[in-house]
Amino acid sequence: MKVLDWVALGWCLVAAATFVSLLRTAAPYGRHERDGWGPRIPALWAWVGMEAVSFVVLGVFAWRARGSLDASLALGALWLVHYAHRSFVYPLRMRRVGQTMPLSVALMAVLFNGVNATTNGLGLFVVHVRGGEWFTDPRFIVGVTLFVVGAGVNVWSDNLLLRLRRTAPAAYYQIPHGGLFRFVSCPNYFGEVLEWIGFAIAAWSLPALGFAVWTFANLVPRARAHHRWYQDRFADYPRERRAIFPFLY
Ligand code: NDP
Repeated sequence: MKVLDWVALGWCLVAAATFVSLLRTAAPYGRHERDGWGPRIPALWAWVGMEAVSFVVLGVFAWRARGSLDASLALGALWLVHYAHRSFVYPLRMRRVGQTMPLSVALMAVLFNGVNATTNGLGLFVVHVRGGEWFTDPRFIVGVTLFVVGAGVNVWSDNLLLRLRRTAPAAYYQIPHGGLFRFVSCPNYFGEVLEWIGFAIAAWSLPALGFAVWTFANLVPRARAHHRWYQDRFADYPRERRAIFPFLY
């Protein structure tokens, strides 16, 4: 095993510890916002700043490797499309005028995104390079399919939530309906987890697996917190709905 793989395994252990801690304390932004996390900055700039790190760092690795149109570059392109949307399109569509986020949370996200983009940049373009033959490998085909389906679920569900946010006063929440909201409280998180599991299968490397583990560690506890929040807040909240995984959890 390469040094990078040991680093990625160690990083998975940090994700496991973060998972346990997030089950006890929801990250303090959005509906779980609360005092006691230090100075705050505008949420719009926090989102752009923390997510753009992933775009820029992986973009530099991809730029240096340009010229050979192989599967690594195709996987890098998937990453960049996701993060172009998450960093520069999604935050501008949020209704976050006046909304803030603790600087400490944004800095933790910068660290998380910086490490993941660096390990994945090294994985894709230096240590586990996938050439043209990888395009026909079943892992690439299955993984990319999962990634695309997950991205579709994520964006569709986020769009529905953003519409609810736009039609309601800030900090006023409604019960979302339609699509996978029929089955779970957080289909946007379900889609995001699917995306990165798909990416891990398509890249078939420990750094990519590490990012999928981190996404799971961030979003499953948050979905649990959202789900409980909805159940406490709305007496008529659909009883059959799960938190994140349809029919399971
Ligand atoms: P949320 O679902 O908490 O919120 C998304 C947006 O919808 C916010 O603007 C929120 O407003 C609004 N909203 C949510 N529910 C309602 C409702 N019931 N009624 C009205 N408005 C609502 O998502 P996050 O902000 O946590 O995450 C945003 C995106 O980032 C997601 O796609 C997620 O998958 C991704 N993400 C990825 C992570 C990873 O580890 N890869 C980590 C964190 C996020 P408000 O802000 O006022 O609550």
